[in-house]
Amino acid sequence: MARLAQTHGLTDVQQEILATVRDFVDKEIIPVATELEHRDEYPQQIVDGLKELGVFGLMIPEEYGGLGESLLTYALCVEEIARGWMSVSGIINTHFIVAYMLKQHGTREQKEHFLPRMAAGETRGAFSMSEPGLGSDVSAITSKAVRDGDEYVLNGQKMWLTNGGTSTLVAVLVRSDEGHPEGTAPHKSMTTFLVEKEPGFGEVRPGLTIPGKIDKMGYKGVDTTELIMDGLRIPANRVLGGTTGRGFYQMMDGVEVGRVNVAARGCGVAQRAFELGVQYAQQRHTFGKPIAQHQAIQFKLAEMATKVEAAHAMMVNAARKKDSGERNDLEAGMAKYLASEYCKEVVEDAFRIHGGYGFSKEYEIERLYREAPMLLIGEGTAEIQKMIIGRRLLEEYRFQG
Ligand SMILES: Cc1cc2nc3c(=O)[nH]c(=O)nc-3n(C[C@H](O)[C@H](O)[C@H](O)COP(=O)(O)OP(=O)(O)OC[C@H]3O[C@@H](n4cnc5c(N)ncnc54)[C@H](O)[C@@H]3O)c2cc1C
Repeated sequence: MARLAQTHGLTDVQQEILATVRDFVDKEIIPVATELEHRDEYPQQIVDGLKELGVFGLMIPEEYGGLGESLLTYALCVEEIARGWMSVSGIINTHFIVAYMLKQHGTREQKEHFLPRMAAGETRGAFSMSEPGLGSDVSAITSKAVRDGDEYVLNGQKMWLTNGGTSTLVAVLVRSDEGHPEGTAPHKSMTTFLVEKEPGFGEVRPGLTIPGKIDKMGYKGVDTTELIMDGLRIPANRVLGGTTGRGFYQMMDGVEVGRVNVAARGCGVAQRAFELGVQYAQQRHTFGKPIAQHQAIQFKLAEMATKVEAAHAMMVNAARKKDSGERNDLEAGMAKYLASEYCKEVVEDAFRIHGGYGFSKEYEIERLYREAPMLLIGEGTAEIQKMIIGRRLLEEYRFQG
C-alpha cells in the first residue's frame, strides 16, 4: 500500500523482513486465496513458503534457531499476511502463542525440546482454553488433570481449537487439583499441559481424539476442531514451566500478545477491503461518472482510510509497549477492540461500494465479508475487551477524594 498504514522508526532488518513478506503475499497468497478459501482447502504450498521464509520462528530466540524478532515485527508481518488471506495468519497465530508461552514460561528442557522444531515449522502449535460450555469465562473450565505417579491423567472436552487437526503440539488448559484444595481460586488451580500428538483426525494419541473440522461461515482453509481427552496420560515434565497452578496466568500472557496479533489481522483485512473498494470505485460508472466521483462514495473512502490509519497506529502502539517490557493489557485490549470493529465497518463499506457484485463469489470482498466477524470473537469478544479496558482505567484513574 502506497500511503496508508506506514510505520515509522523501523530498522533496516525489519524493513527487509516486511518487504519480503509483502512480496510473498502479493505473489503467492492473493492470487490463490479466494479459490482455496471457497474449496476450504488447507494452503500447504503457502505454509511451506512461509516456513522457508522463517515466519514460524520470527519471535523465537536465535539460540533456539529463530529470528529473535520483536512483537512489532511479528505483528506487521501478520498484518501483511492477513491482507492476503486471514486464514493464513490464523495458521501462524496459535503456533506463535504457544512458542511465546514456551519462551516465557517453559523449563529449559521444554524450550530446548520444542523451540528449535517450532522455529523450523516442524512442530506446529495450537492452544486450547475454550470448552463447549465456555469461552469468555475461562475460570469455569471443567476439564481436569489428576496426578498418577509420574503422570497426569486428563479428561474433558475442548472446543474451537484453531489448527486442532494440523498441529502436533497443543497447549491445553485444565483444572488440576494437586496441591490445590477445594475452594482454591479457579485461576490458581489451573495448569497448562504441553500435549504432543500426531496431526490429523480421529484418535491422534491414546486417550486423545480430534473428531473433525467444524464447518464455519468463513476463516476457511485453516482447521478448527474439538478435542476430546479420555484418560489421556501426560508425563509430569510436560506441565508448562514444571509447576502446576500457573496455567491461567501463562495463558493470559499468551492471549495478551495474541490480541495484538488479532488487531494486526483486523488491520490487514481492513487494508485489503480499502484497496478493493478504492479500485472498484474508480472503475464502476453510474450517472455518467466513476462512482468515486460521487461525494457519498468519496466520503465512504475517507472514513475507511481514516479507520485503517487509526487501527494501524493503535496496533503498533500496543506492540511497541509490550516490546519495551511494559504491561500492555490496556493497549492490546484497545487495539484489538478498535481494529476488529473498524475492520468489520471498512469491509462492509467496501462491500456496499461493490453494489450487487459484492454479493458474488467472483469478487474478493465476498470472502472478506465472511472473515471479518471472526475478529469480533477470537481472543476475547468486544465485551471482554471492554471489561479489561474498563478495569484498567479504574486502576489508573483511581478516585482520590
Ligand atoms: C473460528 C474460531 C476459532 C477459535 N479458536 C480458538 C482457539 O484456538 N483456542 C481457544 O481456546 N478458543 C478459540 N476460539 C474460541 C473463542 O475464544 C470464544 O468463542 C470466545 O472467547 C467467546 O466465547 P464463547 O463463544 O463461549 O461465547 P460466550 O462466552 O458464551 O459469550 C456469548 C456472548 O456473551 C457475551 N458475554 C460473555 N460474558 C460477558 C460479560 N461478563 N459481560 C458482558 N457480555 C458477556 C460475549 O461477549 C458474547 O457476546 C475460537 C472461536 C472461533 C469462532
